[in-house]
Amino acid sequence: MANCEIFLEHTLTRRQLLRSTLGGAASLLLVDSRPVIAVDAPRVTTPESTSPIVMKTELTTEMRQRFGIVFPGSDIPEGRDLPLYANFYRALQMYESAGITDFSNDHTGNLHLVVNNEGKALSGKIPFKSAVGYYWNDGISQLVFNWPKESLPTWWEADRDAPKTGIEAFYNERATIYALHELFHPLQHKTIGSTPEYNHSRVILTPNMQNFAQATGITVVSTSEEIETKPPWQLSYGHQKTEPWAEALKQFDWRFGDGTNPIVEGSTVALSQFLWNRNLFTARFPNLAKWAEREVDHLIA
Ligand SMILES: [Zn+2]
Repeated sequence: MANCEIFLEHTLTRRQLLRSTLGGAASLLLVDSRPVIAVDAPRVTTPESTSPIVMKTELTTEMRQRFGIVFPGSDIPEGRDLPLYANFYRALQMYESAGITDFSNDHTGNLHLVVNNEGKALSGKIPFKSAVGYYWNDGISQLVFNWPKESLPTWWEADRDAPKTGIEAFYNERATIYALHELFHPLQHKTIGSTPEYNHSRVILTPNMQNFAQATGITVVSTSEEIETKPPWQLSYGHQKTEPWAEALKQFDWRFGDGTNPIVEGSTVALSQFLWNRNLFTARFPNLAKWAEREVDHLIA
């Protein structure tokens, strides 16, 4: 497995990096009519003089140095997954603009970004076969992105929001907000302690998730013993089909599955929307905006 130590050799300034990255890859970055606040994302037009592989190396160097992200290497040929890295970097910049740069975990170390075309975690497991990306922590904290070889992910056709123009379009158009979402999962995990096997449900017991449940009117019906032993999508919840949650979900521009995992997934949706466009989010969801503000404060502290 390729290590990234060589990336430390690079000492590009941020301006140089943005010029080289955005110059060649401007069209690869997210294009969206919605305003994005507090994010420095200049669009520079220069001739394509840098290869995707070189640009990926520059991006990973920057992300490693500024955010402590570890890159175990990607087996996607010719740097074709560059759009994913570019959008991931942009999501990191949004967190940075909110004062959040530390995605490491006291128990399981730095966050790894894993990209392959099977959706395979570093252990070799494929826990979510149809996911385009997911957070996993089995002793190594990792975000795994599935970059399909040819066919689209299985959820694709059923997703009303997915661009029908292909996987490249997805990573161009929606990957920043997707990365924002996934990056909240390791932040949730920072405080829940080491678990022998992945148990995301424990985040439900943290004060911030309790506050989220209160703001949305969601209750957890499962017992605390079930929370300790089952994943969040196997727990029982109350009120997730009623106001204000249902109405809020309708307005979130986000695929949310069947709502069986409302606290963990809902909070990541809410925080990513909040970071995406704070003003719009606050106007639509004042009760959730208060929660999101507190969550950001909590993550910085
Ligand atoms: Zn999620």
